[in-house]
Amino acid sequence: MILNDQAGDMRHTCQEWKKSGLQVGFVPTMGALHEGHLTLVRRALAENDKTVISIFVNPTQFNDPEDYKKYPRNLSQDIRQLESFEDLTVFHPSEEAIYPSAKKMSGEYDFGYLATMLEGAHRPGHFAGVGQVVARLLHFVPASKLYLGQKDYQQFLVISKLIHDILKLPIEIICCPIIREPDGLAMSSRNVRLNKEQRRDAAVLFETLLWAKNNYKKISVSELEQQAISMISAKEHVLGVDYFKVVSAVNLKTPPSHKIADDSCIALSAVNFEGVRLIDNIMFK
Ligand code: AMP
Repeated sequence: MILNDQAGDMRHTCQEWKKSGLQVGFVPTMGALHEGHLTLVRRALAENDKTVISIFVNPTQFNDPEDYKKYPRNLSQDIRQLESFEDLTVFHPSEEAIYPSAKKMSGEYDFGYLATMLEGAHRPGHFAGVGQVVARLLHFVPASKLYLGQKDYQQFLVISKLIHDILKLPIEIICCPIIREPDGLAMSSRNVRLNKEQRRDAAVLFETLLWAKNNYKKISVSELEQQAISMISAKEHVLGVDYFKVVSAVNLKTPPSHKIADDSCIALSAVNFEGVRLIDNIMFK
């Protein structure tokens, strides 16, 4: 493993690799690494000659300054988890390298409907920030394959639109399955902020998604969503359910509320566990 915190040098190195015919895989992250991230890294390493993982907590995608401040950061622990990997470069750019001008908060790309609902509705400006940072990271890491997690499914669709429709870059995007704790809770950097009681209640998120997957053929979409929200809200340490929605996995459009969902749908949810906001989803297929 090599640590590179010089953005210009990272770009030069990637370009040299590509000139030599090497295939480069890229895993963008915000650090506080867990098994979910490591699975992406292992897959990228298996499918590419060189792999780059970036660790950069992107200020422009946080709509809540408190959330940005509290986001877990632990570079030395991250490095320890990565140091045994060969052919892996850890790209850890400075904020100044990614955002050299005062343009920081501007949203440069229009993702339309995709960015206005679900996470977009609850975190205004979030996807503008995601688009901004991914475009800038890809400037320094011009990879051939990009590895993203299904955990952030809406983000995967937004980034796919950015890369293929807006920037028209020849990058293959690989959406990797969600890695979970034994009780089903999706691994997340935010999980460390849950206390024991909140952590126990947090399992309800996956349990309810699974219930929705097992019952979507029996009741209408609106009934499914309402019952799911009731099941989650019943837990003591749930402050609120931002959303529990059943939508098309292709374009996130909502089926008519009286309709029964089909296996092309996905259920997505965001739940606030007394200040710790967790997201998760499940494909019905
Ligand atoms: P983050 O550092 O949380 O921004 O995540 C970096 C990448 O890791 C994103 O593509 C996430 O979707 C992915 N990721 C995060 N958690 C998981 C998980 N539990 N399983 C699979 N991928 C994940």
